[in-house]
Amino acid sequence: MNPREPIVRAEAWLCELAVERPRTDAMQSFRAQETVFVELTLASGARGLGYTYTIGTGGGAVLSLLRETLLPAVVGLDATRPEALWTALLDTTRATTVGAITALAIAAVDTAAWDATTRRDGRPLWQAAGGAQESVPTYDTEGGWLHLHVDELVQGAVAAQQAGFAGIKVKVGKPSLAEDLDRLTAVRAAVGSADGFEIMLDANQCFTLDDAIRRARAFEAIDPAWLEEPLPADDPLAHQQLARATTIPIAVGESLYSIRQFQTYASLGAATILQPDVARIGGITPWLKVAHLAETHSLPVAPHFLMELHVSLACAVPNGRYVEHVPQLSAITRTTQQVREGRLHAPITPGLGIDWNRDEIDRRRIA
Ligand SMILES: [Mg+2]
Repeated sequence: MNPREPIVRAEAWLCELAVERPRTDAMQSFRAQETVFVELTLASGARGLGYTYTIGTGGGAVLSLLRETLLPAVVGLDATRPEALWTALLDTTRATTVGAITALAIAAVDTAAWDATTRRDGRPLWQAAGGAQESVPTYDTEGGWLHLHVDELVQGAVAAQQAGFAGIKVKVGKPSLAEDLDRLTAVRAAVGSADGFEIMLDANQCFTLDDAIRRARAFEAIDPAWLEEPLPADDPLAHQQLARATTIPIAVGESLYSIRQFQTYASLGAATILQPDVARIGGITPWLKVAHLAETHSLPVAPHFLMELHVSLACAVPNGRYVEHVPQLSAITRTTQQVREGRLHAPITPGLGIDWNRDEIDRRRIA
């Protein structure tokens, strides 16, 4: 086998996936999953399918950056050298980085290259990327949206507990602290605290520092596993102040777009749970760096969304703590990952291990 694998063909397209369930948080609604695919063909004929996403806007900009700038630049590059490939992609887009659109676009190419080379080598991603553990605990997010009435919230939490999930994420950020606290207190009362069932809180960046400190101190009574994105994500110093003012672990990462933004949070002690999103961080290559960085700070990673891909990455590293259970690819995949005893198992098929249904992908193509 030739160890070198020049990319001979690169294509990108955009699909729109309907949301599987209504999803609202303190700042926004999930409108549709704009899913941008990149397919790479290597000199040996091996192929890889990568993807990236937005939750409703900007997908066209990602596609445009890929078609006009990134894909022409990758033809001829060696897909077996992910670091060199990633650096070349960055060099091609220096004028628009660090930034969301660029990171999302690079991620589609990077994940496609990992898919192509690991398929060629007959290795599943979780193993090729480190192979630390075969499965990770998963927690449910679908029962905890902010628009749900407290009764629905409690129902969702109890259903998740009965289904064996390790915990549930509950959105916070109602207009008053009292309303948030009522909802959380009802959930904790319903699930109890005997079996270790965790409650994860997520504010989606909605608080100011004063409000975040007040609410966090009040939320301590329900013993949450973490408070996620309590403040604007580009303000690590405010997170540092909050982290010093509460016993609840602070989680961040879904709105960070470079490895050095994570380095800032980790070194300041501004967050103790890191949540890199493989699309928003620019792909598998930088995702793994964030996970390893977290390990050097004795921090776990609990990646954001994209469970179909993150299960393999969380299993690849020793500090993969959880995968967030939010199915969103059911319409375009042939099989869905099953939760077994509260855990998701890394796919053992070569490549990313996502069982795409290409006919259904083609049907949803809009550009
Ligand atoms: Mg979140």
